[in-house]
Amino acid sequence: MKSCWIYSCLGLLFAGAAVLVYIATESSTPQEKEQNRLIQCAGLHLSDRERNIFYNAILSLKERRDWLILVDPQHRLPADYKPNDLTVQFHPHWPKKAQLRQEAFEQMNLMAEAAKKDGITLIPISTYRTWKYQKMLKDRKPDNPYVARAGESQHHLGTAVDFNTVNPSDENIPPLAWLRKHAGEYGFSLSFPKGKDAEKESGYPYEAWHYRYITRKAVQLQDDFFDGDQHKTLTFLYNCVFNTPSETESKRILPN
Ligand SMILES: [Zn+2]
Repeated sequence: MKSCWIYSCLGLLFAGAAVLVYIATESSTPQEKEQNRLIQCAGLHLSDRERNIFYNAILSLKERRDWLILVDPQHRLPADYKPNDLTVQFHPHWPKKAQLRQEAFEQMNLMAEAAKKDGITLIPISTYRTWKYQKMLKDRKPDNPYVARAGESQHHLGTAVDFNTVNPSDENIPPLAWLRKHAGEYGFSLSFPKGKDAEKESGYPYEAWHYRYITRKAVQLQDDFFDGDQHKTLTFLYNCVFNTPSETESKRILPN
């Protein structure tokens, strides 16, 4: 009689639990479902508070897709890609003219002013490059792992800058140390960080001088949820958030 009572209780408990699970699953709103999908797609485990921060960060980036195009050996830009808001500037201390998309330029100038106040001179030694120019660079140095093939360079986007040097032994010169600390405050992110598998991840070895403007909000998402890894962040956005190719992406050239 007693065991019979215990079995009834257990039965009721299981039934109750099943109903609760059912209610929890069925009552999730479309927003909660979308949150779950994004978190799963990113491979993250987040607290309730983090889930909201993550989701809101992504929502705020949907309008900024143009700044978040994934470019690497598997995701090549079309040869005729040219941003329509390129701005040119000359400066007596720069080795050549600098050319960047307008917002990236404005942020770079603000960053350079802030660096100046700390006694640091930032010099953009390489900025926008056309397909043709990149091809010429690669043809000249086909075995140099630092030089991307045409269509695979972030410089083609008009949002990437090499600052002060392209010599790997200069990684600790003051301008590069300053950038590691402050570039994110201006929306710039180190594209090819130290310790990444160049073959499997970003596609290139450590480049302490190469920064890409991805907006401040994207840097925040990168730092808060993707270990400060730009390639991981942009890959996530490409695969999980922007589900259909943009106009530029639809003209991509397949890897060969
Ligand atoms: Zn570069």
